[in-house]
Amino acid sequence: MGWAANMFDCREWPGECTLAISGEEDEVVEAQLLHAMQAHGQQDGPDLRKLIRASLKPAPAGA
Ligand SMILES: [Zn+2]
Repeated sequence: MGWAANMFDCREWPGECTLAISGEEDEVVEAQLLHAMQAHGQQDGPDLRKLIRASLKPAPAGA
């Protein structure tokens, strides 16, 4: 894969969720946004998007 992968790990957020999403940055943000609304009852908005984007980290290389 030539692009820089990004990962969101829901285990780092409060709760018992064990979800981890990886992919391109925009994909991960959108997927996690939906998940946060559906599974965590959060509301879409600039603050939530900013929080998700700030929580992204590089996916393990070569995985
Ligand atoms: Zn979650």
